[in-house]
Amino acid sequence: MKEIKLFINGEFKTSSQDFISTNPANGEAVAKVYIPTEKDINEAVDAAEAAFYSTEWRSMDQIKRAEILEAISEKMKERRNELTELEIADSGSCVRKAKADVHNAASYFKVLAGQLRKFQFEIKDESASRAGFSNNYKIYEPVGVCAQIIPWNFPLVMAAWKIGPVIASGCTTVLKTAQETPVTANILAEILRDVGLPKGVVNIITGGATEGELLLKNPKVRKVAFTGSTQVGKKIMQSAGARLQNLSLELGGKSANIVLDDADLSLAVDGALYAFLYHSGQACDSGTRLFVEEKIYPTFKEALLKRVAEVKVGLPQDPAAGYGPVINKKQFDTIMGYIETSKKEGAKLIFGGERVTGGEFDKGYYIKPTLFEVTPDHTIFREEIFGPVLAITPVKNEAEAIKLANQSHYGLAGAVWSKNPERAHKVARQLETGTVWINEYHLLNPGMPFGGHKQSGIGREMGEEGLKAYLEVKHLWVSDCDERAKKPWFDVLF
Ligand code: NAD
Repeated sequence: MKEIKLFINGEFKTSSQDFISTNPANGEAVAKVYIPTEKDINEAVDAAEAAFYSTEWRSMDQIKRAEILEAISEKMKERRNELTELEIADSGSCVRKAKADVHNAASYFKVLAGQLRKFQFEIKDESASRAGFSNNYKIYEPVGVCAQIIPWNFPLVMAAWKIGPVIASGCTTVLKTAQETPVTANILAEILRDVGLPKGVVNIITGGATEGELLLKNPKVRKVAFTGSTQVGKKIMQSAGARLQNLSLELGGKSANIVLDDADLSLAVDGALYAFLYHSGQACDSGTRLFVEEKIYPTFKEALLKRVAEVKVGLPQDPAAGYGPVINKKQFDTIMGYIETSKKEGAKLIFGGERVTGGEFDKGYYIKPTLFEVTPDHTIFREEIFGPVLAITPVKNEAEAIKLANQSHYGLAGAVWSKNPERAHKVARQLETGTVWINEYHLLNPGMPFGGHKQSGIGREMGEEGLKAYLEVKHLWVSDCDERAKKPWFDVLF
């Protein structure tokens, strides 16, 4: 069986605690996984600190760092089959999703390398400078030792989004993967070693809340970057606040998908299904609230119900599977709990609402696509479920759609469906979210920022903003005047 060891200071090591990680599709053992002790975690932070302060790493030329990122991307492509197989076994991703994840993670490193090659770490601000007085520069410098924590839903992509900017910026890190899905980040660790990333720059461990808390409380940590639920994000913010650490948070969502009455119906129907069913709805940006203008709602609903019946819930290895199991029993119980609550509250179930059973399906937790008609009073209008459940609300007009879309403490993503670009644009501009698609869903561009408004997060990943999140800016003031007589401000003392 595969062993997932701790990756500390460029070496793979075991620890005194371990567990067997299992496949969400069938409960079979995937790997023996080592959990770090407090001593191991501190050793990992020490390695990151030594790499930052006692080596040339942080002043390495940016072109060399870009070459490392490109080499990682290439190696990931070379090992794509292995990464795909393991991502399927570890996370229950179906084969098409796992392939896309490996491709997206590898491309991210490549795109980031391109951005890094062009990034100006020192900029003279001409408008702030004046001949005979001062020259002013902005200098971007790495924040330092980071502690990064990721969730289980997109294990490889989440690891890539965290490690990429650490390498690009010259920071160092200890990354903690989710205990549910520790496997593919370990292959990434082998890749980092094989491309010659200096020891200690990236250290990778796994574990749950206890290990996460131990990592965050290490006083050598300068920056915390967390992706996960809003609930845990609030705790992380408190802990980072107590230490005044630099903080990035990528949290939950309850994103709105708005179908205007002039939308291309077949596109919007498939888009609405893709928005909430991708990876069994276990995506932070899932479009789980659907608003449809009343004028087209009967036609839209008929088409939606016909099409949703054609979605194939399948075993992850089945190439035709649209989506597979949810991650574990705990998540299954949470989702079924929301379905029961919705029924009790009087939300109208119009499709699904139950487990998929029989044969191989009994070995994992598979849930039918589930559609409810709801009002803003229903719990599932407000709360993130992280499962294949859609809350549909017909609306009178676009003004009501915007109002209800923004009636959420989340603000991660959303979409507008319309054949009128100006109208769609106007609606998109009014949504309080970090990403809005027009006639599209879920697609992300690694050159563009991703993150949340409101309780969906603080800061951005990817794009130039994602790199700057790992940099501090220094103002360098260079006097352009050496004559004492021309510095009358000194005279205040005399
Ligand atoms: P979670 O918040 O339960 O756990 C996330 C990570 O935090 C895990 O590694 C976990 O071990 C760790 N953790 C838990 N408690 C901790 C604590 N007290 N201190 C330190 N670390 C702790 O989330 P999850 O269930 O793994 O993932 C699902 C959530 O992640 C959803 O809410 C989803 O929307 C969100 N998510 C957000 C994004 C984004 O980019 N905004 C991306 C993916 C997932």
